[in-house]
Amino acid sequence: MGRMSQGPWTWAEQWAAWQAAVASEPGGLFAQWIVLVAISVVAGLVIFFATALPLHYIYYVRRREDAARWKCQPKRFLPDRLNREAMRLSTVNMTIGGVMSGTFITYVARGGWTRLYFDWSEYGLAYLLLSAALAFFWSDGWAYYIHRASHIRWAYKAYHRIHHRYVATTPWVTVALHPVELAMQVVANYALLFIIPIYAPMFAIMLVYVLVYNIIDHSGVKFTSRIPWQPSSMFHDDHHRHFHCNFGQHLTFWDRVHGTLRRVDRRYGETVFGGRGDGEGDEFVRY
Ligand SMILES: [Zn+2]
Ligand SMILES: [Zn+2]
Repeated sequence: MGRMSQGPWTWAEQWAAWQAAVASEPGGLFAQWIVLVAISVVAGLVIFFATALPLHYIYYVRRREDAARWKCQPKRFLPDRLNREAMRLSTVNMTIGGVMSGTFITYVARGGWTRLYFDWSEYGLAYLLLSAALAFFWSDGWAYYIHRASHIRWAYKAYHRIHHRYVATTPWVTVALHPVELAMQVVANYALLFIIPIYAPMFAIMLVYVLVYNIIDHSGVKFTSRIPWQPSSMFHDDHHRHFHCNFGQHLTFWDRVHGTLRRVDRRYGETVFGGRGDGEGDEFVRY
């Protein structure tokens, strides 16, 4: 009984105890789903607003007059109407993402099969670090290919154009896109959890990292990166400014490999499809 009063204390034990508790309850599934969805939605919105709001206040409120010194596109501001619309759309999409995550977590909590593990020592530290890098690469690769496919003429016109109404981006533009696009990214990210063993808290941290860096990349504020694999915020800002180039999310790797990184001396625009612009310049822009 001594063990009971202490309670479970490792991740794996906590998880097992909680699963056992809800599995035995009649009608437990619905209650559990509602609770997990609510937690996921609130957590997502808190992270989104906690990152976007300070950026908005520091730059777009306090330093608005000083735009020449901090803004990626100093002469262009998103009209207030579009900015409010972006905020509403991002809020809707963060909520949809939360519902999807909460539903997935419910599936896992009910004993659904995945390759997630909850005790970090199960595969050792080396595997944990290697799988973290792999998960990031997987997520970033899908972000590139889904995004690039969304720039095919019909797809662009059918749904991706929504995200490109915002030429001078702000933090609120980050997930202002067609919900179908968001759903594709979520499914692609979670698919890895059925393929290789992934330490659950590490995966959650990665999703937060992806979201926070996406907000920084949409902030419209010139940030140089101290993280070696992250380009400056100009990389994605140029995507919004020049439309069909720089399709990558965190790494410039995919754009380099496929030749879709913006090049010096080429002309880009909303009607210049294909990712390589018009003209002859071969030199990539440095980010
Ligand atoms: Zn795009
Ligand atoms: Zn964007």
